[in-house]
Amino acid sequence: MPHRLLSDTAANLHSVYIALLKDSRLWGDDYASGLQLITQKCSEALAAARCSVWCLNEAGVDLCCQALFENGQAADLFHDQLLKRADHPDYFACLDHDRVLVVDKVAAEDRFSSFIEYCKALSISSVMEAGVRTEGEVTGIIRWEERGAERIWNADEQAFACSIADLLTQFFAFHKLRETEERYRKIFEAAGEALAVLRGNRIVDCNKATLEMFRTRREDLMNVPLRSFWAETQPDGRKSRDIESLIFSPARHGRPQHLVWRHKRLDGVEFDTEVGITPLLLRGRLHHIVCLHDITHRQRAERQIRELNTLQQAIFDGANYSIVATDEKGVIHTFNRAAERMLGYSGREVIGKSTPARFHAENELRRRAHEATEELARPIQSGFDTLIARVLEGAVDEREWTYVRKDGSSFPVLLSVTALRNNLGDVTGYLCIASDITERIRANAELLHSKREIERNANHDLLTGLPNRSRLHDVARAAIRNAQERGQKLALMLLDLDRFKEVNDTLGHAVGDQLLKQVAQRLQALLISYGAYLYRLGGDEFAILVTRIQDKDATMRLATTVKASLRQPIQIEGITLELGGSIGVALFPDHGDSSHGLLRCADVAMYKAKQQSSGALFYEPQFDFHSPRRLTLLAELGAAIRNNDLILHYQPRVDLASGRCIGCEALVRWQHPTLGLIPPNEFIPLAESSDLIQPLGIWVLETAMAQARIWETNGLNLIVSINLSARNLMENAFPQCIEQTLAAHGLPAERLEIEITESTLISDPERTLMVIHRINNLGVRFAIDDFGTGYSSLAYLKRLPIQTLKIDRSFIRDLLSDDQDAMIVRSTLDLAHNFGLSVVAEGVEDEATLQELKRLRCEQIQGFLFSKPLPVAEFEQWLEAFSSTVTLPDLVPPLH
Ligand code: C2E
Ligand code: CA
Ligand code: CA
Repeated sequence: MPHRLLSDTAANLHSVYIALLKDSRLWGDDYASGLQLITQKCSEALAAARCSVWCLNEAGVDLCCQALFENGQAADLFHDQLLKRADHPDYFACLDHDRVLVVDKVAAEDRFSSFIEYCKALSISSVMEAGVRTEGEVTGIIRWEERGAERIWNADEQAFACSIADLLTQFFAFHKLRETEERYRKIFEAAGEALAVLRGNRIVDCNKATLEMFRTRREDLMNVPLRSFWAETQPDGRKSRDIESLIFSPARHGRPQHLVWRHKRLDGVEFDTEVGITPLLLRGRLHHIVCLHDITHRQRAERQIRELNTLQQAIFDGANYSIVATDEKGVIHTFNRAAERMLGYSGREVIGKSTPARFHAENELRRRAHEATEELARPIQSGFDTLIARVLEGAVDEREWTYVRKDGSSFPVLLSVTALRNNLGDVTGYLCIASDITERIRANAELLHSKREIERNANHDLLTGLPNRSRLHDVARAAIRNAQERGQKLALMLLDLDRFKEVNDTLGHAVGDQLLKQVAQRLQALLISYGAYLYRLGGDEFAILVTRIQDKDATMRLATTVKASLRQPIQIEGITLELGGSIGVALFPDHGDSSHGLLRCADVAMYKAKQQSSGALFYEPQFDFHSPRRLTLLAELGAAIRNNDLILHYQPRVDLASGRCIGCEALVRWQHPTLGLIPPNEFIPLAESSDLIQPLGIWVLETAMAQARIWETNGLNLIVSINLSARNLMENAFPQCIEQTLAAHGLPAERLEIEITESTLISDPERTLMVIHRINNLGVRFAIDDFGTGYSSLAYLKRLPIQTLKIDRSFIRDLLSDDQDAMIVRSTLDLAHNFGLSVVAEGVEDEATLQELKRLRCEQIQGFLFSKPLPVAEFEQWLEAFSSTVTLPDLVPPLH
C-alpha cells in the first residue's frame, strides 16, 4: 500500500482486510467455512446485497460459484451456479484483461451483452468484481452485486476489491498446499512400508508403520540417530559400526542405495530388513527417505522352502512309488528313481519326450478287492487319454491301473493322477504317482481264498453243501426284518425224515450219507421254483425258509408238496428206499418275531406232527405244553428242586427312618449244571404252568425260613420276604404248610412276609382270598409286589389283609425324569399312607432317587444302590459292612 492518507471508508475497509488476513479461521483445515467468512465480511464491509467467490473449474474453463453471501446470510444454493466461458466470451476476455471490473448501471451497460443479460435475469443493478490471480493467470473472482438502486463503486471500494482478490490468491494457494500435503501425508501413512525421513542421520519424520516396526512412540524415534536402531552385528557377522560408512556413504552423496540391514527394536529384538534409501532435496537441504521392509517372514518362508525342497528331493529320490510329472501335453519333465526302477527306463531316456502312453497298458483294469485274481484282468475301456479326461472332470482320484515296463511286461499299480494348474486354473501338467501293488493283490487273493473257505465251512454243511443252522439264523433274521418293514409274512418249516435212524442203523452210515445228499438235492431242486431256501440243521433235520408266502393255505400246499416229494423212492447202490417226513411250520409274525422263536415253534409243531403222523402241521400254542424241549427242562427242574440245585439270593430292604436293614427278599435262582445260573424269569413261568410250582414254593419257604432261623440265632432279626405265585395260594393245604414250617424252625410269624402280585387274585379271587386270610391270621405279613403294573383297584386293596406295598421298579427308575412316574409314585405313597400301609420302593439305583423318595416319605428302599441280591455268605458280609458304616442322620428323613 502506498503511503497516502486514508479516507474513513478506506481505513475501515483496510481494517476489514487486515482482520481477515489475521483470522485463523481462514488458515485452518476448513476451506469452505473460510471462504464463507470472506464473503460475509466483504458483503458487510461494502453493504452489498450479494458477495460471491468463484473459481475456474478443474479444466480451467468455466467459473463455478464457491461461496455466496446474500441478504445477510450464507446461501447454500450456489453450488450449481456456473458461468460458462462459451456463453459469455466477451466477459471472460474482459476478466483476463482488467484488474477490476465495474458495472455501475447494468441497465445502461452495452459491453459483454450476454453477461449483462445474465445480471438482468437475476435483477442485479450494479456489479463490481476483481480477478484472483495465481501466477498471473485469473483463476477466480470475487464479486459484489447490488439489487434495486444502482450503485457507483468508488475508488476505495475498488482498491478493497483488489486487496481481497490478493488475499484470496493466498487463501487458495494455502489450501491447495494443505490439500497436497494432506494427500502426501496420507500416502506416507498408508504405505504398507515403514517410511522415515532423515536429515543428516536423524529421523525427522516417519509413518505409523515405522513406529509399529520398532514398537515405539513417535517421540522416542524423532531426532534420534538412526544408529540407535541398528543391531550390534550384521547377518554377515561384521559390526554395524565398522561397515556404516561403507554402506551409507553413497546415499550421503545423493545416490540411492539398497541393502539388507539388521535392526534392533527398543525392546532388544533384532530383525532383518530390506532398506531402500532415496536422497531428496527439501528446501535446499539433503534429506533421505528410508524405506524399511521387515523380511523376517520372508526369510523364514525362504528357509522353509529350502528345507522343503531338500525334503522333497529326498522323498522324491527315496520314494518307493514312482513320480512322473508331465506338462499339459504329456511331455515328461520329472521322473524319479522309483519310476526308473519300476518302469525300467532311465530318466534321461524319457524326460523331454512325450511318452506316457508307453507306461500305460491299453486297458484300465478293474478289480474289486473282494474279487479273486482271475477276475483281475477284466478290461474295461482304454488308456491314458480316457484317464486324463476323467481327471479333468474331477472324477478320478486314485485307481488301480496297469503300468507297462520297457521290456513290455506289465504290473498293477495304485495310480493317482492330479492335474497341476496355474493361478488362473489352467492345466499346466499332470502328476502321476503310482505304487506297485502286485504283492498286495497276491496277498489279498490268498486271504480271500482262505477266508471264503472258512466262511463256507462255518456256514455250510460239509456233507450236503447246504447252508447250515447258523446261516439259517443269519438269513432268517434279515428276512424277518425285511418282512417287518413291508408288512409281509414268512414261514419257517422244520422237516425231519421218518425212519432215517432205521436206515442208518441197518444199512450203514455210508448209505445214510448218500440218502441225505440225495434228499438235499431233490428238495433243493423243488424249492428253488418256490423262492424257498433249504438248510440242513444236523442229522436228518432240515429247515425251509419261505420268504414270500401268500397265505396259510399256500404254505400248507408247499409243505404237502415237499412231503410228497420225500415219498418218492430213492435209489442208493441198487437199493430202493421209501421215506417220509414230518414237517412243522411256524409263521412270522403269527408265532414269533425272532428266528430262534420261530424255529422253536416249528420244532414243537414238527414234534406234534410226528406224534400224530399227520405229515405237516402249523404251530399252535397248546402244542408247547408237550414240546420235548419244555418237557426236558421241566424234568430237569423237578430234579433240581429235589437235588437242591436251586439257591436263594437275598436282597436287603433298608428302612429310611432308622437307616437300618430290617429285612430282605429271597429270590430264587437255578444253578444248572451246564447252563449256569438261570434267572427266575426263565423258569418260574415254566414251573407255574406245571405242578412244579407247588414243590418250588415249598422249597423256597422252607429254605428261607431255615435261613431266617440261623440269622435269628445269630441275633439278626430280619423280616424275610418270599415270592409266591397265584397257584401256591390256591392250594388249600398251604396255610398249614406255612404254620408247620414256622413251627419247625421256631420262628415268630411276623418274621415272614409273602409277596404276591395284584394279578394273584384274578383267576379265583374267593378261594385265594380265603387262603390269604388264613395265612394272615397266623400273623404272617403280606406285601403287594410290583405295585402299579397290574389292575389294582382300591376295592382289591381293601379286601386284602396286606401290610406293605412295593412300588414297581419301572416307576422308580424314571422318578426324577418322568413327571407321570413321579405323579404315580407320589399318589401311591399317599394312598398307601391313607390305608396305613408302609411302602417299599423297588429298584432304587442312585442316591438322587433315594433322596427324592425320602422327601416323599417312602418308608423302605430296595435296590442296587444298596445291594444286588446276594448269596447268603456275601449277604451277611454286606450286612456287617452296612450296619457299621451307615450314618443315621443321613438316612433319617426330615421331620415334618
Ligand atoms: P421281583 O419280585 O420284582 O424281584 C425283584 C427283581 O428286581 C429281582 O430280579 C432283583 O434282582 C431285581 N432288582 C432288585 N433291585 C434292582 C435294581 O435296583 N435295579 C434293577 N434293574 N433290578 C433290581 P430277579 O431276582 O431276577 O427276580 C425276578 C422275578 O422273579 C422277581 O421279581 C419275582 O417275580 C420272580 N421270583 C424270584 N424268586 C421267586 C420265587 O422264589 N418264587 C416266585 N414265585 N417268583 C420268584
Ligand atoms: Ca418280589
Ligand atoms: Ca417286584
